[in-house]
Amino acid sequence: MTSTPVALAARRRQAVRAAVEQGLLGPDQPVVGLLDVAGIRTAAAALRAAFDEVVAPGTPVLHAFAVKAAALVPVLRLLADEGLGCEVASPGELALARAAGVTPDRIVLDSPAKTPAELREALDLGIAVNADNPQELDRLSALVRHHPAPPPPLGLRVNPQVGGGTIGALSTATATSKFGIALQDPGAREWVVRAFADRPWLTRLHAHVGSQGCPLELMAGGVRVAYELAEEINQAVGRRQIDTLDIGGGLPVNFASDEITPGHREYAQLLRAAVPGLFDGRYGLVTEFGRSLIAKSGLVLARVEYTKSAGGRPIAVTHAGAQLATRTVFAPDAWPLRVTAYDAEGRPKPADGPIPQDVAGPCCFAGDLIACDRPLPELAAGDLIGLLDTGAYYFSNHFAYNSLPRPGIYGFDATTDGGVRFATVREPQTMDEIVAESGVAHALALSRLR
Ligand SMILES: *Cc1c(COP(=O)(O)O)cnc(C)c1O
Repeated sequence: MTSTPVALAARRRQAVRAAVEQGLLGPDQPVVGLLDVAGIRTAAAALRAAFDEVVAPGTPVLHAFAVKAAALVPVLRLLADEGLGCEVASPGELALARAAGVTPDRIVLDSPAKTPAELREALDLGIAVNADNPQELDRLSALVRHHPAPPPPLGLRVNPQVGGGTIGALSTATATSKFGIALQDPGAREWVVRAFADRPWLTRLHAHVGSQGCPLELMAGGVRVAYELAEEINQAVGRRQIDTLDIGGGLPVNFASDEITPGHREYAQLLRAAVPGLFDGRYGLVTEFGRSLIAKSGLVLARVEYTKSAGGRPIAVTHAGAQLATRTVFAPDAWPLRVTAYDAEGRPKPADGPIPQDVAGPCCFAGDLIACDRPLPELAAGDLIGLLDTGAYYFSNHFAYNSLPRPGIYGFDATTDGGVRFATVREPQTMDEIVAESGVAHALALSRLR
């Protein structure tokens, strides 16, 4: 089980062919998501090994998978089998983590807008919480005061304000980010130190600098700020009150090839160099990686319904568009995807003489393009396209435009005899479900209102 670029591509080729042969995809199901189970397991194991290598023996480490990257119960279960917990940011994500059998001690609740009920539930269940702001900390204080038992681990999120990456919408450590306590604002640092001194039960600091587009050095710089603040607080209160640092996730993913770079190991090594005290055994560690654990193990496979030409530009109209590749369609420069071309049987189309084509989706707006002027083997109706590296954030963040259904998601495993076995991760959404979710139970409600 490896994830060298060659192995990754070979498993993908096998899976695409098998998906067609086994009928996962056809005229009635023109788009599916596929997940490489071996790839996910390997990524999880690599993450654990990367940090095992740098932390002092015996250091408590929780790798909490950021559920928003793949809100799919079987995926959370698979990752739990590989020793990972969950980072959740809504009641829905918490419910998914629990449904996957992840125990409360392996769940961390973040989110900038937790309600009193969510906070109370977390305390009652024993789930770690990172407070985002002073008002939330006040709510938490009141709950802790009336909580019958010692509370679960509670922390405070800080914004180290080390700056943004290349994607503004995903940069959480800018001067004006909405997340955490903006540490460099006047008086903020002193306020944080006092907040800990006044609350002996507050034992964690949390910083998540950003996601895709943030250089590793920037991320490590943010972790360093959090570490130095923890040292300052512990010094000020005269004991090791902060016992755990939650360093967030955000390892960027290479969307340009099958190369897994940077790897978790590279980041762990950089952290050891940039923040050596973090790993000397005095602090427990929580990480919250999402994209880097699963992006390269996912693939969207979609049928080309028609091909046409407009203004001299060949266009392939496919079933993969903004409903599943929302970021790619609306922010194509920040989220380009590799597109591969297969024939109707799922065999790679020969790459000789590629011609620039638009790869369009099924949504009824002109901008619904996955790729523009992209050199590809000439596509024909009935062919398939693959959108690569789509395991994270693509399958679980459906955009219900045109009432297009959420596609089925299937995990695959290549067996030793060269066959491929599939397991259903999520059934395709049915028309009845779409109609029900769109208010059919209230069909006459408006007509009867007056
Ligand atoms: C989104 C998010 C993550 C995961 O980010 P990735 O880029 O997917 O690794 C981790 N922590 C928090 C607080 C987040 O908001």
